[in-house]
Amino acid sequence: MSDAALLSVRDLHVSFATPRGDLPAVRGISFDVRRGQVFGIVGESGCGKTATGRALLRLIPPPGRITSGQILYHGEDLLSLPETSMRALRGRRIAMVFQDPAAALNPVFTIGRQLTGVIHQHGIASGEAARQRAFALMEELGLPAPEHMAERYPHQLSGGMQQRVMLAMALAADPEIIVADEATTALDVTIQAQIVELLLRLKRERGLTIIFITHDLGLVAEICDSVAVLYMGRIVEEGGTDSIFHDTKHPYTQGLLAAMPGEGTWGRPLSVVKGSVPDATLAISGCSFAPRCPAAMPVCRSIDPAPVHFGPGHTAWCHLYGAEKDRHG
Ligand code: SF4
Repeated sequence: MSDAALLSVRDLHVSFATPRGDLPAVRGISFDVRRGQVFGIVGESGCGKTATGRALLRLIPPPGRITSGQILYHGEDLLSLPETSMRALRGRRIAMVFQDPAAALNPVFTIGRQLTGVIHQHGIASGEAARQRAFALMEELGLPAPEHMAERYPHQLSGGMQQRVMLAMALAADPEIIVADEATTALDVTIQAQIVELLLRLKRERGLTIIFITHDLGLVAEICDSVAVLYMGRIVEEGGTDSIFHDTKHPYTQGLLAAMPGEGTWGRPLSVVKGSVPDATLAISGCSFAPRCPAAMPVCRSIDPAPVHFGPGHTAWCHLYGAEKDRHG
C-alpha cells in the first residue's frame, strides 16, 4: 500500500457464474485512494465499475464472487476479514450510497424511523438521542424542517430529498469513506448539481474520502481529484482529473470525451465510441478495446498492453505509447 493511500486495491478479480460460464466482471484492477480525495471510477455500463464498488464492501451478490486480490484498508486486507468484522465495518468505516434511493428506502416506514433505525443499529444512540442525531443529520444534509420531515414516507419526498436521506443514513456512523455508486444518475440535472455540491461540502467539512462511480465524465470533471477509466473490467487509463481531461492518452478515454455534449456540439450529432462491449465470457487476446479502437494495430490483437507512465500518477495501458515507455521513468 502506498504511504498516502487510505485504501489500496490490488489485483482484484470478480466473476459471475452464468450458464455460459464464468463472466469476469473485474479483471485484475489495482488503485490507491488517498485520504480526503474524490476518486472517480468511470466507464460504460457493464465495464465493472459497480462490481468494483460493491467488492470494496464485499457486497457482491451471488452468483458473483470475488475470486482473488486484496483490498487494503488501514493496512488490513478486507478480503481476509471474517464476515462479522465486515458487518461491523460496513456503514461505520466505509458506507455506500446507491443509484436509486426510491428502491433503497423502505416504503412502509417513515424517514425518521429508518434514519433512527440505522443510528441505533450502529450502536451510536437510541431513543431520544437517536432522534436528535437524526434531526442533526437531516439538517446537515439540507433537509428542511427535520421534525416534520421525519414523519414523512419516502414516496412523499422528491428524488433529490430521497438521495439526501440516503446520504444522511450513510453518514450516520461518521464513516471515513463513502462509495457513491451512480448516486446522482436517477436525478434531474438541477438536483444532480445540488447533490454534487453537497458531496463536495461534506468532503470539505468532514474530511470525507469519496469513491465516485459514474458513467458521466462531466460529473467526474466537476467532482473528482483523480479518476480510473474502466473498460471490460480493467483500468485502461488513470490519473489526476486534469491530466485525464487535458492530456488524454487512451483511445477509449478519447472516445468517451469526444462523445460528451458540450459547447460547440449543439445541433450537431455527437461522436460515439463505435461498436459495443464484446461478450465478456469469450477469451480476450491482446487489448480488450481492439475490436472498437480506431487506432488498433496488429500487435493490439495479440499482446496485452503494458502500463505506460506519463508523469505523476498518469498511466495508460496502450500499445500506441510503447516506444515512450521509458521517457518519463
Ligand atoms: Fe487501441 Fe491498440 Fe491502444 Fe488497445 S492497445 S487502445 S487497440 S491502440
